[in-house]
Amino acid sequence: MVAKIIDGNAVARQVREECAAITRDLKSRGVTPGLAVIIVGDNAASKVYVANKVKACTEVGLHSTVYAFPADTPDTEVEAEIHRLNADPQVHGILVQLPLPAHFDARRVVAAVSRDKDVDGFHLYNVGALVQGETLFPPCTPFGVQKMLEYENIPVEGQNVVVVGASNIVGKPMALMLMQKDATVVICHAKTRDLAQFTILADILVVAAGKPNLILPQMVRTGAVVIDVGINRLPNGKLAGDVDFEGVRQKASYISPVPGGVGPMTVTMLVHNTVQSALRSVSPMHSPAS
Ligand code: NAD
Repeated sequence: MVAKIIDGNAVARQVREECAAITRDLKSRGVTPGLAVIIVGDNAASKVYVANKVKACTEVGLHSTVYAFPADTPDTEVEAEIHRLNADPQVHGILVQLPLPAHFDARRVVAAVSRDKDVDGFHLYNVGALVQGETLFPPCTPFGVQKMLEYENIPVEGQNVVVVGASNIVGKPMALMLMQKDATVVICHAKTRDLAQFTILADILVVAAGKPNLILPQMVRTGAVVIDVGINRLPNGKLAGDVDFEGVRQKASYISPVPGGVGPMTVTMLVHNTVQSALRSVSPMHSPAS
């Protein structure tokens, strides 16, 4: 068996086209979806991520503004800007680019974002709502994985799902989202003993550990769906995921590549969450998680 490759760029394109259509409709009703991005300090990777988010917004027709603060800005000043943006009706999404400089209490800053504009889904209200299956804003990376599974018509209900990685931004929300879809979910992490005894049971294996070649073919059930969230820079400068792609694709039924898999989905789902927030601002009963 050779796996079908899940083309994250194609899925992202489809979601962006849907977002662009909704955006055109909103604009005809006088509303332009707006994203505000807060960035503090000079982290080079953060600047690239922010530039990518702004570019994606522009392509889809959203309005976006970057609020860049020097690293030594007092946290009270950043929080005051967030409160101003919370009250601005032209802003439908607010994103605080992490990490923040060490003197910031990142949890407090994120908590300052209105839960109705928390397009990253990191506010404690949205985290709690995710546990109950009612979140306004599913976190972008696991939401992207869910869209990829939907795009390929891969059933989740009743499937054995193994999530490798238990971070707050990927592994844990991923597990909750798939549990909400009635999968049987196992979460593994760095302290898991004998990872393979769990991964071999997976009908759907989602890997987000940040360890190249963590998942080898002998750890994967024949016919499994394998989603590789990991992004690792190899010594030769190339990007790789956490899965031995060439080996595992000989056994899996579907596999997502790195690059070109989950990566393009994360920024796309940020755009999606912002557009849905704008839609909700004109039709409050609309559920953005659909
Ligand atoms: P993290 O470091 O916060 O968490 C990693 C998780 O993996 C932890 O729960 C840890 O216990 C677990 N882990 C580490 N080594 C392990 C091992 N040997 N066996 C089993 N579990 C192990 O990382 P994160 O922010 O969740 O990101 C994970 C990976 O996903 C990284 O490579 C990151 O770059 C990538 N990522 C990609 C996207 C995207 O858009 N594609 C978005 C976010 C993160």
